[in-house]
Amino acid sequence: MKCKLCENYYDTKKYIPKNLQCGHTFCEQCLLKKQTSLLNDSNEKEIITTCPKCFMKTNKKLPVSYAILDIIDIADHDTNKNKNNCSVIYCKIIL
Ligand SMILES: [Zn+2]
Ligand SMILES: [Zn+2]
Repeated sequence: MKCKLCENYYDTKKYIPKNLQCGHTFCEQCLLKKQTSLLNDSNEKEIITTCPKCFMKTNKKLPVSYAILDIIDIADHDTNKNKNNCSVIYCKIIL
C-alpha cells in the first residue's frame, strides 16, 4: 500500500496512513504539508487539513487508517513467515 501522493509505502512510524473526512487516505507526511492552523470564532486554534485530491477541508484530528495498517500487518507476516515479532509501535497505536 502506497501513498498516492509521495509514492512511499505506508508504515507505522513515518508514513502513517490517515483518513480524511472526504474518504481519501494519504500519509501523515503529505498531510502535514496540507495543514493550516487558524483561529475559529471562539478564538481556539483549529487545524484545517485540505485534501490534496478533492480539496475538501477537514477540521478534525485525522484518524489513523487502521484498515490500511491491518493490510500492511498481514503483508508483513506473509513476507516474514518465520519471524513472529510484533512491531512495538504498531501495538502501541492499537492500544
Ligand atoms: Zn504521502
Ligand atoms: Zn479527498
